[in-house]
Amino acid sequence: MNETLLNKTSEEILEGVLAEFAKLAAIPRPSKHEEQVSNFLKDLLTACGFEVVQDKFKNVIADVPASPGKEDSPLTILQGHMDMVCVAEEGYTFNPTVDPIKLVRDKKFLTAEGTSLGADDGIGIAGILYLLKNLDAFDHGRLRIIFTTDEEQSMNGALNLDKRFVSDASFMINCDSEKFGELVVGSAGCVQATFWRELHYVRPDTKLGTNMTITIGGLRGGHSGEEISSGRVNALKLALQIMRAITKSGKIRLSRWSGGSAFNVIPNSSELVFATDLKPAEVQSICAEMERRVRKVYGATEPNLKIETKVIKRPDKVLHAKDYDLLTNFIELIHSGVYLMSPENPAQVMASANLGVVRMDDNIVELKLLPRGNADELVEEFIEGFKQAAQLCVFESKFATPSPAWTFNPDSKLLKLAENVFSEQNGYKPERQIVHVGLETGHFVQKNPALDIIAIGTTNEHIHSPNERLHLDTVAPQVKFIAGLLEKIAET
Ligand SMILES: [Zn+2]
Repeated sequence: MNETLLNKTSEEILEGVLAEFAKLAAIPRPSKHEEQVSNFLKDLLTACGFEVVQDKFKNVIADVPASPGKEDSPLTILQGHMDMVCVAEEGYTFNPTVDPIKLVRDKKFLTAEGTSLGADDGIGIAGILYLLKNLDAFDHGRLRIIFTTDEEQSMNGALNLDKRFVSDASFMINCDSEKFGELVVGSAGCVQATFWRELHYVRPDTKLGTNMTITIGGLRGGHSGEEISSGRVNALKLALQIMRAITKSGKIRLSRWSGGSAFNVIPNSSELVFATDLKPAEVQSICAEMERRVRKVYGATEPNLKIETKVIKRPDKVLHAKDYDLLTNFIELIHSGVYLMSPENPAQVMASANLGVVRMDDNIVELKLLPRGNADELVEEFIEGFKQAAQLCVFESKFATPSPAWTFNPDSKLLKLAENVFSEQNGYKPERQIVHVGLETGHFVQKNPALDIIAIGTTNEHIHSPNERLHLDTVAPQVKFIAGLLEKIAET
């Protein structure tokens, strides 16, 4: 590495990066409100003398010439997203489209007063800006800067980015990870799948003397990508098990079933309304037995499960028996939970699906499912299976545009370079990490399958919450890491 950047003290680099970050924090930039920050970045990069494009999705793209003599080395993209998740503490007055983020700094951490900090991904962008202002201090090949919009909600910026900005590049360093010392090398794709069918109701048979509700609660739920392998019980699948248990000893006529809130959230509660020929005490003991079974298997992860029953007045109408069978059979057939662990790394989830929502009204029942896979082929496999099940159980289906996976490439040149540079600079080997959630990187490999990518970052904790905080001691090492890696790339 050129003497100059290495010779800078960590304090000097930290102050320089935080000065860039402070400018970003002063500009309100929640997702879908990026106009101001996009213009700021465009002007800043233009003032640096680069060729800058701002597309209609407000992505900002800039081409940076190589150091003298390094013009023939591979083109490398440096990428981050300009939007942030804006959340405030209860009672803190904050208008995310108007108010700046107020920074609070102590010796170890940077946080924000009352709100999320936006180190995700403001610190990634600030690090890149700092490097651009110190280009003379390290050798580098041709660089392309890509700052995307709306990562946090829909990844619309990355999705709609013109292919031409990606197709001629060899390497990409995504600066949107949250842990220094970890190299992210793969992410999952997913597809939002919706299923529905028309319902037919009948008046309940008066011989069914018991009318009840069963409420499942106290489950932990959680993010369907991050928590799918942490022993969380899906409330909707549990509701199905309870219905099956009731039909072992009696009849059930379902009047209403609901549960779950979103595709990507493991449902933590569910409610059933039904008529049955069993006595209330028999239903209660079935529920108690189900609680015992769950506790036996999931006691460590779901200690607070509560299944409550209540006797109610007779519902006006119940599902036609055929509709009930088709609905319950369909849910039986579709997979929900972990589907495949990585053959190479048994601790890594490779494919999963989450039954996120069941909603019934007077006319239809609607289900929302989110399959994920760390290879697009796995998501395709899910889609095929779900289509078959839907056909068998006479459900209509709709699949949104899949968001692509970024599949781990064990032959990645960039990964090897990054591991070497990191170890040399820090004295320990960084960890490889494959995540089971979607990243913008998926959209970049979809545009250029040969693009060799790693995702890295400073250590940012509790992102997307008012407790978000940046570990200040990771800022300078992160900048040196990127500079060192760019120097190595320039040598190839
Ligand atoms: Zn982010």
